[in-house]
Amino acid sequence: MARFEDIHILCQELIPIYNELEEDAKRVIEKHAEECESCKEQLESVGNIEITPKEMNHNQAPMKRFKKLFLFKRVNTLLMFFIRVIVLGLIAFDFSQHFSADVPYGIQFEGLRASLVLFYIPLAFVLLMFTWFLKNMKLLLMSLLVDLLVIYFFDDLIRLIV
Ligand SMILES: [Zn+2]
Repeated sequence: MARFEDIHILCQELIPIYNELEEDAKRVIEKHAEECESCKEQLESVGNIEITPKEMNHNQAPMKRFKKLFLFKRVNTLLMFFIRVIVLGLIAFDFSQHFSADVPYGIQFEGLRASLVLFYIPLAFVLLMFTWFLKNMKLLLMSLLVDLLVIYFFDDLIRLIV
């Protein structure tokens, strides 16, 4: 990892030729100059650059982007759980439609378990992959936990209600 002193030495060498440098190198020097008085002074004399206003401009655009990202994540979280609730509702509804007192007690819940395996597990898999692609790791862990709870305990829950 590059340390402050090391970057400082490089900056001292590079600031005299600042205007000839690539954009990436310029950015490294500017970032260092924000924290280093002597480099900041040299940079301002060589490159005609004002560090402070530029830094303020930098801060405003990312804030907007962060807010958008935050909103997107929240909508995404709601959507992911909404889809699961709908599908579980459909599975429970389907179960209630086929529920009959004539069928032996144990076998009735086999159908519910089969619906979970047939419909909920593939759905959960697709949704988890989607969440993973979005790099939303917190939601991914939360969803995985919810899915495991649903797969193991959803039929027990219905059994309690029936
Ligand atoms: Zn420096």
